[in-house]
Amino acid sequence: MNYAIPAPAPHTLAIAGRDERFPVNRVFCVGRNYAAHAREMGKDPDREPPFFFMKPANAVIDATRVPSVPYPPKTANYHHEIELVVAIGQGGRDIAVANALEHVYGYAVGLDMTRRDLQLEARDKGRPWEFGKSFAASAPIGALHRAADAGHPAQAAITLSVNGQPRQSSDIAKLIWSVSECIAVLSEYEALEPGDLIMTGTPEGVNAVLPGDVMQGAIAGLGEIRVSVVA
Ligand code: MN
Repeated sequence: MNYAIPAPAPHTLAIAGRDERFPVNRVFCVGRNYAAHAREMGKDPDREPPFFFMKPANAVIDATRVPSVPYPPKTANYHHEIELVVAIGQGGRDIAVANALEHVYGYAVGLDMTRRDLQLEARDKGRPWEFGKSFAASAPIGALHRAADAGHPAQAAITLSVNGQPRQSSDIAKLIWSVSECIAVLSEYEALEPGDLIMTGTPEGVNAVLPGDVMQGAIAGLGEIRVSVVA
């Protein structure tokens, strides 16, 4: 194949215990999927259908290789959101809840880094969240743990500390919409493809970080990531 300009390199994630890597296609993110986080964002938690936004593939950083993120431009309120990340291995559309987990390759610990000031300004003006959420290096993610090895976690402590101080602490059992339900609903709107990631939402305790801060996130059974913020 001859390309007119240099073709971009694929964005990939490490897979725990294996040499092969996981090529990232698209990144879907679930909004307000823990009740206590919905409340801290000024919204009532409810069981309205889940809503989604996206990040570009170049948001994804393999935190096992590059353990830092640059402080992004045009923000004064750069927030951490620790999240369970689902990696899709088998695509499909109109996937039933009962079959949804068959489409999962594995799981990882990830951060949905957010320019909160830009996001809330856009939200309150009825504009897209794009510049608040969708930017390069805004999704550092740890090694994927294959469902074939680790199973499908339904309960697990999810935590984030900054410079050793606890910031976020919850359990993935508190997801308003489960992994299966997110896959089912998303696949009604857009056919899922192998390599897609779903970031499932963050629990309460989101807050700002500054250059020099070190974030340490973990989900029991899925390891941890350690990511520093650099100027
Ligand atoms: Mn999020």
